[in-house]
Amino acid sequence: MPPLPPLLYRQDLDAAICDVPDCTYVGHDPLVLQAPCHPRAGFAVQYHTGVLLILCQRCQRPVTRVAVQAQPEEPAHQ
Ligand SMILES: [Zn+2]
Repeated sequence: MPPLPPLLYRQDLDAAICDVPDCTYVGHDPLVLQAPCHPRAGFAVQYHTGVLLILCQRCQRPVTRVAVQAQPEEPAHQ
């Protein structure tokens, strides 16, 4: 299996911009992920211990890993 991509957090996704070379459009909302190896293939997604591993549906190459945040606890009612 190829090496795992770096783990992404919300700050990374919020700051992500289009990675198409020479693209100057700034209205990419929402962020759309594509596998660089097979952009139209779609994804397979695995979850394990707080991390989503996103794989190319066709070749199973790891595309990205996303950290999952726990739901914040609600304040105690008095
Ligand atoms: Zn692929």
